[in-house]
Amino acid sequence: MTLQTTCAESQETRILPLLSPHTRVKHDLSKSSDTIPQYYAQMSGNELDRRISAARATLAERLVILGHHYQRDEIIKYADLRGDSFKLSQLAAARPQADYIVFCGVHFMAESADILSAAYQKVILPNPSAGCSMADMANIAEVEECWQILSDIFGEDAGIIPVTYMNSAANLKAFCGRNGGIVCTSSNAPAVIAWAFRHGKRVLFFPDEHLGRNTALTYGIAEEHMAVWNPKDPLATENAEEEIERAKIILWKGYCSTHMRFSVQQIEKARAEYPGINVLVHPECRHEVVATADLYGSTEFIIQQVEKAPAGTQWAIGTEINLVHRLATEHPEQLIFCLDPIVCPCSTMYRIHPAYLAWVLEALVHGEVINQVSVDEETAHWARVALERMLAL
Ligand code: SF4
Repeated sequence: MTLQTTCAESQETRILPLLSPHTRVKHDLSKSSDTIPQYYAQMSGNELDRRISAARATLAERLVILGHHYQRDEIIKYADLRGDSFKLSQLAAARPQADYIVFCGVHFMAESADILSAAYQKVILPNPSAGCSMADMANIAEVEECWQILSDIFGEDAGIIPVTYMNSAANLKAFCGRNGGIVCTSSNAPAVIAWAFRHGKRVLFFPDEHLGRNTALTYGIAEEHMAVWNPKDPLATENAEEEIERAKIILWKGYCSTHMRFSVQQIEKARAEYPGINVLVHPECRHEVVATADLYGSTEFIIQQVEKAPAGTQWAIGTEINLVHRLATEHPEQLIFCLDPIVCPCSTMYRIHPAYLAWVLEALVHGEVINQVSVDEETAHWARVALERMLAL
């Protein structure tokens, strides 16, 4: 089985071997198989649909399937709940009757669901190789090294508040919990930055440089009071240390390859072709794109803007293509299209295929939990501390 798609990272059309019989998925979870059985890879769409529906009916209330907005339609149609990563974790935690939470999203989302759900609830990521390339741009060793260097530069009275975006590994959320820091989402980032400056003198923001910059500018921090931290070569430039000393916010050099595709040129082209069109983008886009757009905000904000707009409204949207297509389908009374003319889904979200969903659901019917995502107690405790600081805002 192959899938033709256009890759966000390479900007080239290529053939991805999606479910080859030889596909092996490595992960470190004890109660799981690391190979999708060959017969799932060879099933027709109708057969997968029949099996997924039957498994859902059998598991009934013991199962809740969460579908992130960026999932393809062939997955989202099975979702009991749809939302962004944080909303889905909260919704899942409010379903105590569900023993199994199947998260059709990416790895950090499943971790957050495990942290926020009850101990008896098992969180399952259908394809354990569905990560997030942005989240992977910051790891705990790099963040601890950065923290040490910043502490050496600023001394005892450093007053640095670590802020991690929801799109990060559980151990980075735990790092924030242990060090007086906090988690943010793209919806509440301005409130979180304001909180951080009430509790400290400067902020270390990871892993998304662009959400950090867009939020800091909105908060009133000038560019000259921002420094970019490149974890691969932190103090490479001659003035790096001076820039850090001057900075009120230190931005980790991470990005989302899907949202980096949007450009000012695309906005100008949309406006030239559709005078009066509304341009609406996500804050993971570069600052010049956000500054040129009419509106920017989180995934939930983007959906709300479209839902409340009158018929005949025109939108050029800068976010993941599956969501934009779905909005266009659900709102035929409006003109909605993606700013980027090349169809490009989030390549890691796309790793959740119906065959993986059928595989994990049928295993559950037979009492077998595969591809469970489980966060150890110590990490979960400190990550919850950072999440609760955010929830208290
Ligand atoms: S769209 Fe970007 S930030 Fe979201 S999961 Fe995909 S790579 Fe990660």
